[in-house]
Amino acid sequence: MYNVAYVEDESCVAQKGCRLCIMYCPEADCIKLDTTKMKAYVVVSRCKGCELCKVVCDAAKHNAIIMAPVNGATGEIDLSKRAAEVAGLGQAYQ
Ligand code: SF4
Ligand code: SF4
Repeated sequence: MYNVAYVEDESCVAQKGCRLCIMYCPEADCIKLDTTKMKAYVVVSRCKGCELCKVVCDAAKHNAIIMAPVNGATGEIDLSKRAAEVAGLGQAYQ
């Protein structure tokens, strides 16, 4: 297990023109714009987990990126920890 970046659509403001994470990610074709949803998304297999995208997104006060563990064998992100944290705050998840 290792951590990768994950964009939470509800907080991402790419539809307003933000591209900070895409500009700062050092990996090519790793964090991209979904032109249908107009939200950034991470290509899990390319993400190195450096957190630079999260740093710049947080610095701009968008707080749309979380780091979540990914199963190296299946390539699936485990968002359960995040869900538990949010549930713990008494907020609905999803
Ligand atoms: S920096 Fe944050 S708000 Fe901006 S496009 Fe990336 S994820 Fe969305
Ligand atoms: S954690 Fe690093 S490699 Fe992964 S999407 Fe963010 S900036 Fe790119």
